[in-house]
Amino acid sequence: MIEARGLTKRYGSTLAVDDLSFTVRPGVVTGFLGPNGAGKSTTMRMVLGLDRPSAGEALVNGHPYTRAAAPMREVGALLDAKDVHGGRTARAHLLALAQSNGLPASRVGDVLELTGLSSVARKRIKGFSLGMSQRLGIAAALLGDPSVLLFDEPVNGLDPEGILWIRHFMRSLAAEGRTVFVSSHLMSEMALTADHLVVIGRGRLLADTSTPEFIEQN
Ligand code: ADP
Ligand code: ADP
Repeated sequence: MIEARGLTKRYGSTLAVDDLSFTVRPGVVTGFLGPNGAGKSTTMRMVLGLDRPSAGEALVNGHPYTRAAAPMREVGALLDAKDVHGGRTARAHLLALAQSNGLPASRVGDVLELTGLSSVARKRIKGFSLGMSQRLGIAAALLGDPSVLLFDEPVNGLDPEGILWIRHFMRSLAAEGRTVFVSSHLMSEMALTADHLVVIGRGRLLADTSTPEFIEQN
């Protein structure tokens, strides 16, 4: 579960996130919808403890991660631009991440399998297509077997097959009882992916409602 309470972030005179309060529940896919620049990435970074709020707080399973990054056992994330060493193999990348986060190396094989990357585990990341890179990012997010998962614009630029795979994968994570929070600037994508929607514009909450209700009212 994720609880944002009065979450606010200022960058100089820019109010990127403006007094956001919402709850993301387990067991369903919750979409985070808003145009580019609305504050989605900033909000997710604050939930993860990668950015300090100017005011308010975000709780993940009751814990505020405002000072240090959230442990990968609690929350996994696929962020917009996660830089990886392209010269490494997928397996080496995941092993290094597991090691630096105190997670068992045995998880690497598990997450490669889950994301369908076992056959390319020994290939260098720099040869990966965007779809494979996204799968690798999702594999990294799953390393700690977290109950909470954040995906920032996961289908951007993907081909239809990649989009369908991610959509289906997020649904199965939610069906396992996990909390799944996924951002997008596309209503059409969210209509097909999310059960519930948190909608923002210019950093402010515009709607927090079930997807069918949102579609009916807009
Ligand atoms: P979204 O993810 O919805 O596209 P962002 O959270 O990336 O939106 O950005 C929200 C606003 O905050 C934008 O106006 C953006 O320019 C600004 N912003 C984001 N990160 C920074 C930063 N590190 N420094 C200054 N402004 C930022
Ligand atoms: P660095 O590359 O800076 O040495 P890591 O890549 O190991 O460090 O990650 C730094 C922190 O970011 C970790 O402690 C972890 O909590 C968090 N982190 C990294 N990748 C993920 C991810 N995919 N999901 C969730 N948290 C992550």
